[in-house]
Amino acid sequence: MPTALRLSSRQLDTILRHARAWKPEEACGILAGNGDGRVERVFPMENVEHSSTLYMMDSQEQFRVFDEIEREGWQLVAIFHSHPHSPAVPSARDCELAFYPDSLYLIVSLMDDALPELHAYRIVDGEVEEVDIFVDGNRLEPPGEGG
Ligand SMILES: [Zn+2]
Repeated sequence: MPTALRLSSRQLDTILRHARAWKPEEACGILAGNGDGRVERVFPMENVEHSSTLYMMDSQEQFRVFDEIEREGWQLVAIFHSHPHSPAVPSARDCELAFYPDSLYLIVSLMDDALPELHAYRIVDGEVEEVDIFVDGNRLEPPGEGG
């Protein structure tokens, strides 16, 4: 199971573009890659709920993506979604619907459009633990921390 999420700045851009395009609705998608959390491919997905507070991936689309991940020999590294109007903290429903204990969960907050906030979590049996995010090898500092 990945202990950190490792993205390139280009992959981060893809995630942010997807999140912004769906605002004011939540956006969602899948990050596929390696066991150490290194992402190889970003799969932006449709949020079939079309909601500003909920997301649900299209099951057919999800099936096709999981099939491609298997063919490429990758793993499911993370499931990501956006919070258009709230912090990057898992909601009670996010925890309930965290069906993949081996996956990380990345949440992008667009509360502040100019400064999106990203946090990644492991969610197992309702237990939430934050994990580090690395972009181009540098640990992402949450706003207000460090400096
Ligand atoms: Zn959420």
